[in-house]
Amino acid sequence: MDRHIIDYHLDAKSDWVAVLECGHFQHVRHDPPWINRPWVATPEGRASMLGQVLACRKCDDNAPLDRKR
Ligand SMILES: [Zn+2]
Repeated sequence: MDRHIIDYHLDAKSDWVAVLECGHFQHVRHDPPWINRPWVATPEGRASMLGQVLACRKCDDNAPLDRKR
């Protein structure tokens, strides 16, 4: 299910987590060469991705919300 990114936060390991409109969280790590999301490393890059969509697997699985809307 495609969901818009509405916010971000850092987890306990300083990895970036996107907050999706559905109330689920999703890690958006930049961990080259396997995971390349250079945009997540800068405030400008993160801002540019606000409102973009990520495929939310938790929605597909009807997972409980990570955060209430
Ligand atoms: Zn979701």
